[in-house]
Amino acid sequence: MILNGNEIGSLQRDENDMLSHWEIPQGTLIDGDNELSIESRENGSDDITVGPVRIIHAAPDEWLNQGTIEIDVTDSEEGGPLPCRLTIVDSDGCLVPVGTERRPQIAVRTGVVYTSDGKATLKLPPGRYKVFAGRGFEYSRAEASVALASTDRVDQPLRLRREVDTAGWVACDTHIHTVTHSGHGDATIDERMITIAGEGIELAVATDHNMQIDYRPVARRLGVDSYFTPVIGNEVTTSFGHFNAFPFAVDAPEPDHFENDWNVLVPAILATPDVRVVILNHARDVHRGYRPFGPENFNEATGENLDGRVYRFNAMETLNSGAQQTDPLELFHDWMTLVNHGQQITPVGSSDSHDVNRYIVGQGRTYVRGDDSNPGAVDILQASQSIREGRVSVSAGLFVEATVGGTAGPGETVTVKSPQFAVHYRVDCPSWVTPQRIQLFANGVLLREESLDSSEQRSGTWSIPRPRHDVFLTVLATGPGTRHPSWPMAQPYQPDSSDWTPTNLGFTGPIRMDVDGDGVFSSALDLARSLVSKANGDFAKLVESLGDYDEAVSIQAAGLWQANQGSLLDDSVQRTLNDGAPQTQSGFFEFLSAWRASQRARIEQPSRN
Ligand SMILES: [Zn+2]
Ligand SMILES: [Zn+2]
Repeated sequence: MILNGNEIGSLQRDENDMLSHWEIPQGTLIDGDNELSIESRENGSDDITVGPVRIIHAAPDEWLNQGTIEIDVTDSEEGGPLPCRLTIVDSDGCLVPVGTERRPQIAVRTGVVYTSDGKATLKLPPGRYKVFAGRGFEYSRAEASVALASTDRVDQPLRLRREVDTAGWVACDTHIHTVTHSGHGDATIDERMITIAGEGIELAVATDHNMQIDYRPVARRLGVDSYFTPVIGNEVTTSFGHFNAFPFAVDAPEPDHFENDWNVLVPAILATPDVRVVILNHARDVHRGYRPFGPENFNEATGENLDGRVYRFNAMETLNSGAQQTDPLELFHDWMTLVNHGQQITPVGSSDSHDVNRYIVGQGRTYVRGDDSNPGAVDILQASQSIREGRVSVSAGLFVEATVGGTAGPGETVTVKSPQFAVHYRVDCPSWVTPQRIQLFANGVLLREESLDSSEQRSGTWSIPRPRHDVFLTVLATGPGTRHPSWPMAQPYQPDSSDWTPTNLGFTGPIRMDVDGDGVFSSALDLARSLVSKANGDFAKLVESLGDYDEAVSIQAAGLWQANQGSLLDDSVQRTLNDGAPQTQSGFFEFLSAWRASQRARIEQPSRN
């Protein structure tokens, strides 16, 4: 922001509509015409929408210190104070600057106040305001309209109600930063404690870059240690991908983030005292010129890594609310592809939040199977084990539970002998979210789909004929993304289109089904290997046998054939394929499309290995 050639301040990097104040230093304004310009300091451009500009004849503090709203947020059932988030907007819906008392229980940004005891004294100039109180995904949203005059003092109690039943599931954010230790973003470690409590996260993993931070002393000092259990983690930030690891023992050595070989790095991280979980983060984003799941490194149809990197991590981010994908389901599909590729990889959701407000902590989260009755004392090792085993439900605005045969949930393998079996689902969300659709995938292939237009449809049972071979199931719920200023979804971090629709989603970890009675789950890759081996070089025989299998098995078979037997572009191979079942043809087509994309990308961008 430049006024008559003098920089008077900078805009906040935040896509939300907001009102901002800058102090004009004495002598900057001149008689006659004044020129205000907004320029980007870096090269390149940005899209900025600017509204009316006004000169106020008052010092900023003096301007804010006119009226007072005393907020007191309590639990509507238990009556006690609740850590929460307050969102304050003007009559245009813009976030407004607020003055507040300075105390450690408060984190303040434009239009946003997190408070660990439900109390806040908001100082505002005269005007009409809306104040919203919320406590993250599991709670209701309370709302008050206040018309404030300059000397008013208004007491505004607000009540919140728990609306989402997540009993038996621990609300976990596996990816949390602070400006104190990561050096970027704006949430100090003290403010981070208040925001975690205010968003209702129960298991909070500290993952600053290449360091292990223990939140416990800070949480205790601020009196929020009964609301969540801190976990010492580390975002091991290498030139070939970022990996979140936890839980680290206090004083455990830091993994070597200069190690670029996954085959060495990941086992070394897992050998560090107490570490159980290693997550591949934001695999579709480019960092230091490397994109783990870019086409130059990854066949997106088979999940094969093209640089010989072995997937030794045991989880991957399938949703990162601080680094959204233009296609919000891209990483969900990548994860299903990896399971088809025979990987024991758990999907997780996280926020990657560095900020108090721009990216909301815990917006993307993972519900982890475990005892959540005392959020201040979650069993960290048990929760880590649940994550390893896939006993999770990934969430950004929607929560999904699913069982097969009434008992087997995510992370479990169920043996099915009967000709039909039942998949039961339940979708839950707060009253301020609208779910739209529920889908069942088997080996990544869409099997069933229902709309969720009324609240009666939020649970149900599908009766499914027993598949002809082992599959894994996952249930996905989606709906329009939250745009409300109290919990807005952030824009994509590295957009690949200007077209973007925010989406709320939730899905379960894998439920593996053993239907051939051998007591183990066989992945699509396992099944494809056995068929390719039985075909013994006879492509027609392979294509015929694939007729009894789903598209996922054909995709894996295509990858194996091309790698070991010869080109799928060969004329006779293509002719034989024309006699194949529809899912066989589409599977080979999917593989070849991904293979061509990879060939092209590798020519254009040679591997850095
Ligand atoms: Zn990262
Ligand atoms: Zn990060």
